[in-house]
Amino acid sequence: MSAAQIIDGKAVAAAVRADVAEQVSALRERTGRVPGLATVLVGDDPSSAVYVAGKQRACAEVGMKPFDVRLPADATFEAVAGELARLNADEEVSGILLQLPVPDHLDGPTLTNMVPPEKDVDGLTPVNAGLLSLGLPGLRSCTPQGVMALLAHTGVELEGAEAVVVGRSNLFGKPMAQLLLAENATVTVCHSRTRDLREVCSRADVLIAAVGRPRLIGEGFVKPGAVVIDVGMNRLTPEQAHNKSGLVGDVDFAAAVQVASAITPVPGGVGPTTIAFLLRNTLQAAERQIGLAG
Ligand code: NAP
Repeated sequence: MSAAQIIDGKAVAAAVRADVAEQVSALRERTGRVPGLATVLVGDDPSSAVYVAGKQRACAEVGMKPFDVRLPADATFEAVAGELARLNADEEVSGILLQLPVPDHLDGPTLTNMVPPEKDVDGLTPVNAGLLSLGLPGLRSCTPQGVMALLAHTGVELEGAEAVVVGRSNLFGKPMAQLLLAENATVTVCHSRTRDLREVCSRADVLIAAVGRPRLIGEGFVKPGAVVIDVGMNRLTPEQAHNKSGLVGDVDFAAAVQVASAITPVPGGVGPTTIAFLLRNTLQAAERQIGLAG
């Protein structure tokens, strides 16, 4: 039996992007201003280069102005900090994204914190993380926002639901837990020291995995009828992965699809929504900088 609805992340993302494109056009007509998104890539890591190219393309597609800043792998801390300061001062740049990870000789968290909160479209600075945890308006981390949109798409009732998030990173797990709490879910966050992961996961009405371990969430982890969101992106050879892309998630899809009520595929689930919400954050940042509510 395979009863689960396969959640179409591409369709959810396309709807968000279309809405952003419409609002960018309205903003341009009303104010003559166009939101700008700067990506800063240090070094030549091929995966990072692919991610940055995707963000640049998506930005142009919704009518925003992309700024593609590249620095060599041996760039000094001062050189990267100088670029960030220059982008901070540029009024055409509404949002700044420092592509992580940066090369080992650089201090990623310190550089990230140099992005001013109002241009922090990744939602990673202490100010935006703090605003989120206090339930105050601010720029939110993109992937957790994407997951909330996917959950809304399924129609699952979050109020009072048992939600389990596997992974407690600052980038994903912690902001995810905060967004679920804000919707009145009962939230449990698991990590590498969780004693009985299977038992905790099997209680979840909504199970979200962001670990980075192929198919960790296996048989017996998913409660019948649960909604399962797989954030993991693990690159295997296509033969190992049994799919064209060579990408697999943290959830054993073949096992989970038998018992879940809805599940995201990898690829085509969470991934596309992350970029969509990066665009939405850039629009929101631009509106605030212009002095419009956003
Ligand atoms: P991360 O910073 O490496 O965090 C991984 C988390 O998983 C940590 O909290 C770690 O626990 C926990 N963990 C590791 N092994 C575990 C185990 N055996 N049992 C339970 N928990 C375990 O990773 P991340 O940045 O959050 O990303 C996680 C995954 O999501 C990666 O595959 C990444 O590629 C993917 N991702 C995808 C998108 C997207 O747009 N689709 C965006 C972001 C991330 P400790 O804290 O105890 O070490």
